[in-house]
Amino acid sequence: MLLSDHVSKIPLVGPLYAKKLEKLGISSIKDLLEHFPHRYQNFSLVSTILTAQPGEVVTIQGQVVQIKNVYTRRGKTLQLAVISDGTDTIDVTWFNQSYLVKSLPPGTWLSLSGKISTIGRKRSLVSPQYEKIGNWKLEIGNSSTLHTGRLVPIYPETYGLSSKWLRAKIARLLPLLAKEIEEYLPLSLLEEHGLLERRKAVEQAHFPESASDAEDARRRLAFDEFFSLQLNSLWRKLSWKNAIPAPQLKIDQKKVTAFIKSLPFTLTQGQKQATEEILQDMRKPQSMNRLLEGDVGSGKTVVAALAAYVAWTNGYKSIFMAPTQILANQHFNTLKNILEPFGAEVGLVTSGQNLKLKISNLKFDVVVGTHALLHKVRLLENVALAVIDEQHRFGVAQRALLAQKRGGFAPHVLTMTATPIPRTIALTMYGDLDLSVINELPKGRLKIKTWVVGQQKRESAYKWIRERVKNTSEQAFIVCPLIDVSEAETLKNVKAASVEFIRLQKEVFPDLRLGLLHGRIKQKEKDSVMNKFKGGELDILVSTPVVEVGIDIPNATIMLIEASERFGLAQLHQLRGRVGRAQMQSYCLLFTENRSQKVYTRLKALEGGLSGPQLADLDLKLRGPGEVYGTAQSGFPELKVGSYSDLELIKLAREVAEKIIEQIDKHPKIKKLIKDKTEISSN
Ligand code: ADP
Ligand code: MG
Repeated sequence: MLLSDHVSKIPLVGPLYAKKLEKLGISSIKDLLEHFPHRYQNFSLVSTILTAQPGEVVTIQGQVVQIKNVYTRRGKTLQLAVISDGTDTIDVTWFNQSYLVKSLPPGTWLSLSGKISTIGRKRSLVSPQYEKIGNWKLEIGNSSTLHTGRLVPIYPETYGLSSKWLRAKIARLLPLLAKEIEEYLPLSLLEEHGLLERRKAVEQAHFPESASDAEDARRRLAFDEFFSLQLNSLWRKLSWKNAIPAPQLKIDQKKVTAFIKSLPFTLTQGQKQATEEILQDMRKPQSMNRLLEGDVGSGKTVVAALAAYVAWTNGYKSIFMAPTQILANQHFNTLKNILEPFGAEVGLVTSGQNLKLKISNLKFDVVVGTHALLHKVRLLENVALAVIDEQHRFGVAQRALLAQKRGGFAPHVLTMTATPIPRTIALTMYGDLDLSVINELPKGRLKIKTWVVGQQKRESAYKWIRERVKNTSEQAFIVCPLIDVSEAETLKNVKAASVEFIRLQKEVFPDLRLGLLHGRIKQKEKDSVMNKFKGGELDILVSTPVVEVGIDIPNATIMLIEASERFGLAQLHQLRGRVGRAQMQSYCLLFTENRSQKVYTRLKALEGGLSGPQLADLDLKLRGPGEVYGTAQSGFPELKVGSYSDLELIKLAREVAEKIIEQIDKHPKIKKLIKDKTEISSN
């Protein structure tokens, strides 16, 4: 057997098990050996039966004295056994495993792990882990047991594939194949940073002898995970910089100044700084690849508009891509207002239009559309700038698509996001991007007053909203509960919003004008609802949680979020950013029916004045990275071993990757970790 062999080469693994393993992302034997436990059950305390205390989690080893099936009235069975180790006896109970009576007859030697409980006055083990001893010797570490009497690895499981099964297979394969596990890092480097050898780390991660062994193993494996991510993003950064020529733009400072003067406001310091960084990039003959991060309302659009203006003064086109049609419409209007006075023509491409036909002969200087534009971009000539709004929904692949050379050059790419990204994530995931951050809001914005509202205050909150919006220009958003956390607009979320909309209109606000918005409404109707809300013909807009992040409605002053505990702090902060855009005092009501102190404390954090990135970091601390960033919907890659809260290790991996990539050709084994096969031209 080889590491690279398919799992079906493993004895007793047929197509059925192969299929189940596939569900866990395991197809080769290597994958199986790299399926690491996510925790360990501590069964390392071995005790005699005599001294085992109620409440203790222990391992005892002894012989079956008697065992029998007992049938309950409901047709279930219990297996009652008595075990003796010479010091005393103990009762053991299992449920519905009548085969045990045959497979563990009196005289069998067993090792059993579990919590000692008391039934009546007698000590007993209920549903303990067990294994026969004597017939199977584990060749790793000192322990001769596998499922008991040690730190027992618990794996991510799937239906029909238990940790016990995985553990047994891995324990058999490791001694045979561990020597094939390659070390790709120089030994000097391992020593310098106190990292285990990879082979040892793999063995030790499955079967550690102590908690500190397990931690050492985890550290090395997590390092590898981060290192590979870093290496790949650094490689992308280098190849982007070296391989893709972009139009070198001339910056006419006078024109830039005149443009800035024409704006109805003065730029904030953060906007000025970001503008400068972007213009610096666009001067260069390599394609810009910059991420512009700033809270909702921090004014990213105007910064991008300035970049488009500069492209236009150089005789080039720009394209603007938004995640949704409504946002595309909004950008279109904003850009039209800003750019058309100078003579640049702004056009909107909607998803309904036949893009293929139209796009190649679009006459506009600035083309705005949804991300559907992305795939057609190659057809458009003379594009110097591509702006992608709300970047977290766009992956590496999409950016790479833009980078494909067209007519000898690629556009400069500016991605924008209001998603507050914790530092660890920025370092890991966006290592290939240059980062500009706008960390202040325009002057004069009032802090959005935020309250956590429990069930008992619901009615008075509704009353308060009515008083504010009825017969005034103020408006409110009501965001419905997030039923389904997937990124797409699912039927479940739509249904919840529709039901809530009817309830609110009929029972709560019969005297007000309500509108409903969700992703499954036809475009025409969406636009009409949105326009009505913008025009003040609606008092309240009820919507699903995933719809439209960046809408600009100056009169909207109230944001009510249902079941707010289901959102991350950063997400809530982003939703809240839909209000408070003008000089009026705005409010955010975080509804929750969950009374746990933990939830309350977490939501309370929004009442303070923390910035988006601060909230993101706090959320990472309070909920743990698994919950915040570990899911597919977060848009960040799922880590198998590492954790996004591990700043020290992430930094180390980056440092090492930076050093190694400078002389990558000296490290052929490491070079194999790079997925992108474009060679970097040396210059
Ligand atoms: P976001 O960063 O969320 O995309 P926008 O670009 O939509 O924010 O800007 C939000 C609002 O703030 C817009 O109405 C915009 O005209 C306004 N704005 C932008 N910059 C400034 C500024 N420096 N001073 C005052 N208002 C500004
Ligand atoms: Mg925006």
